[in-house]
Amino acid sequence: MTRRKFDDIRRKLLGERDCVEESLRRNAYHVFYEIDDTTRDAGDLASASHDRSVLYRLQEADMKRLTLINEVLSRIDEDGYGICEQCGEAIGRVRLEALPWAMNCLGCQEQKDSMESFATDSSVIKPVLDSEYDAA
Ligand SMILES: [Zn+2]
Repeated sequence: MTRRKFDDIRRKLLGERDCVEESLRRNAYHVFYEIDDTTRDAGDLASASHDRSVLYRLQEADMKRLTLINEVLSRIDEDGYGICEQCGEAIGRVRLEALPWAMNCLGCQEQKDSMESFATDSSVIKPVLDSEYDAA
């Protein structure tokens, strides 16, 4: 890949990181200021706690995303970008263009996903994973 291509990817990732950070700030604001749990109504309390747990899950997914983006950015700096961290093969170019933060080739990612879906409830980050399949 050319130097220029890397600059494009870096820009894309930095833009994505801004979005994720913005979303983290917004959700934190909701959790602390906008969910009303001062009510004594049991139904309202239940819905406030539900809202809060949904937001926490979103926060968690955003944090994961942020970590991933930072990791990929540092790999660009270390010239390890575009190499699958599992098998060491080059990640397909189409996949990288659609999904600049991919750390694994498609085969390894699918393997990883199927293992993780047993271990964790991934319903929150699932939409992100699904778009990875489309990109490949
Ligand atoms: Zn691989």
